[in-house]
This record gives sequence, structure tokens and C-alpha cells, in this order.
Amino acid sequence: PQQKQRPQQYPCSPNPPNTTSTSISTMRRSARDYQFGTKIGEGSYSTVYSALDRHTQRTYAIKVLSKRHIVKEDKIKYVNIEKTTLHRLGQQHPGIVQLYYTFQDVSSLFFVLDFAEYGELLSIIRKFGSLSEPVSRFYMCQIVDAVRFIHSKGVIHRDLKPENILVGHDFNLKITDFGAARLLGPDNDENNEEKIDYNSVSDAEVDVNKNNNRERASSFVGTAEYVPPELLKYNQSGFESDVWAMGCILYQFFHGVPPFKGATEYLTFEKIIKGEYTYQKQLPGEVVKLVDAILVPQPAARLTIPQIMQSRWFQDIPWDDVNYIWHRKVPRFES
Ligand code: ATP
Repeated sequence: PQQKQRPQQYPCSPNPPNTTSTSISTMRRSARDYQFGTKIGEGSYSTVYSALDRHTQRTYAIKVLSKRHIVKEDKIKYVNIEKTTLHRLGQQHPGIVQLYYTFQDVSSLFFVLDFAEYGELLSIIRKFGSLSEPVSRFYMCQIVDAVRFIHSKGVIHRDLKPENILVGHDFNLKITDFGAARLLGPDNDENNEEKIDYNSVSDAEVDVNKNNNRERASSFVGTAEYVPPELLKYNQSGFESDVWAMGCILYQFFHGVPPFKGATEYLTFEKIIKGEYTYQKQLPGEVVKLVDAILVPQPAARLTIPQIMQSRWFQDIPWDDVNYIWHRKVPRFES
């Protein structure tokens, strides 16, 4: 079971961490350089710990991935995508979880990441039931700005959802989990400094190369509730797919739950394909207009990120002002 130890008070900011930036890969690191703390959470093939850098006293989140598990569960491709994407996005944007170091030992891979103190945005939505309009606008601005940046680097996230958006010490958002991402352009693993050595897990009784090269029968990636109709109907996804997910997230901010939710995954897909969603409560008119213009089945007719930025709900947002988008005090959470 997940063992999350999160501070309970919102939204006052606790001790800000030392924000001195450390450049990736300028030094070799190993697990000995960190004092591992509490387990923050568990994924299907990884465990995340808080860890103190013994040299700088800065706290990180270290994601420990079991090589054996990765090979056995046929996840090599996804781990490589996550690592390559985080390298490509580099340390260039406040809205993306940064990868500072990677290293490995015989059995595990280690990703040293920004520590997002307040965990998943989903937990905050659940705690309050829904978010107030000022908080929703504040957080949507950050998501729009971060996704705009991700797309500008030729990356489609493909699994945007409140579980994959983390909340940092200052309540600003950080997008994470690029395991399902699609990278456009020439970048590949060759550009990374360190190859992952899976040879030490030969006792996993799996043919690594075979699994690594095998294409999945279906390229379904993502999470049922946020999957766009074009993926379900034509197995296609593009930048518009991330925009679709953003529409679902915006609806969820106000309702607490995403717009398409059936009793089973199949019924959820049916609703998505039919474009069947309703508003359960009265939302500000500009928000309804925005959601309706995003949750359009045809990707070409869906709002683009620049169009979202120009929408009336975001009137007066100074998009190029980094301080305004990323370093403002978060509004009150209560809706
Ligand atoms: P899966 O791999 O099954 O999709 P996941 O992506 O959530 O699951 P992990 O990335 O290993 O798996 O994350 C496990 C948990 O650890 C997450 O639920 C999240 O709450 C927490 N976590 C992950 N990265 C960080 C981070 N940088 N800072 C704080 N908490 C984190």
C-alpha cells in the first residue's frame, strides 16, 4: 500500500527548500551520495523515496526502478522514453519535474528528481471535492504554459491527468510521468550519457532484446477517462490529444471527477466516442465555453493551445510573464 506522508495544511507554504539548481550529469552519483528517507509512493515497477543529498543537504525524490521487474513486465521501452524525454526537456521549465541525475546498480535504476512536497494534484482535488474558480484558473494557466513548452520541444505527453501533475512546496504544479510520451524528431537514447545495463538481470528468464523490440498489438497509452476519441477510433494521437486531456482536467477541477466516467472502462470509452458528458453544477459561462470548445471529437476542430490562451476566461493573463504564471501566491483552495 502507498505510504504517503504529506503535510496536511493548505495552502500556506512550509519551509522552502534550497532551490540552488544542479546541472544534470556533470558529476557521477551513486546511492551512497543520498540519505534515503520515507517511501513517498509506489508505481507499478518503481518505488519513490524522499532523499537528502549528503553534499548539498537538498531534498530530492528518488525513483528506484527494479530492473528485474522492468524486464519481466516488458517496460524497457517506457523507461527509456521517460528518461529520454526528461533529458530532452532538461532543466528549462518550472512546470516540469526535473531529472538531475540517473545512476544504476546491479538490480536498480535510480532517477533523482525534484521533490514535489504536496504530492499529486488529484489528492488536493479529492481533499477539497473541487477547486475554486481562482485556483482552477491559476492551475490551468500553469498546465497550459507547461504543456505549451512540452509541445514546443516536440514531445506529446499522452497521459496528462491529475495523478501525473505534482504539487511542489510552494503549491506550484509540476508535470511528471513521461513514460507514455511520444517524441517527435531525431532524439533517441544515443544522446544520453549512460546506457542502462540489463545484463545483470539475465535470471529474469526473459529475452530482453525480444521484448525491447516488440511492438505492442495496440498502441493504447494513457488512462481511460482522459483518452481522446481519435485514439479510440483511429488509434491516432497528436498534440491535440494533450489538449483533450486538459479539457477533462479543467472540468474535473470544478466537478471533482472527470467528464467521461462509466462503470467500466468500456462504458467510459463509449461515452468518450459519443462525446457524452453533462455539467452537474453551474459553472462560470466562460469555463463552459472553454470546456465545450476543447472536448470536440474532431481533433482539427478542437481549440489549440494558443486559442485557449486567448480565450475570455484567460483574458488579462500575461502569458510571457514567468513570475506571474509561476511565482504568484496560490489563491485559497476552498470552492
Ligand atoms: P505507474 O508507474 O504505475 O504509472 P506512477 O507513475 O504513479 O505509477 P511513480 O512514478 O513510481 O509511479 O510514482 C509513485 C508515486 O510517488 C506517485 O503516485 C507520486 O505520488 C509519488 N511521486 C512520484 N514522483 C514524485 C516526485 N518527484 N515528488 C513527489 N512525489 C512523487
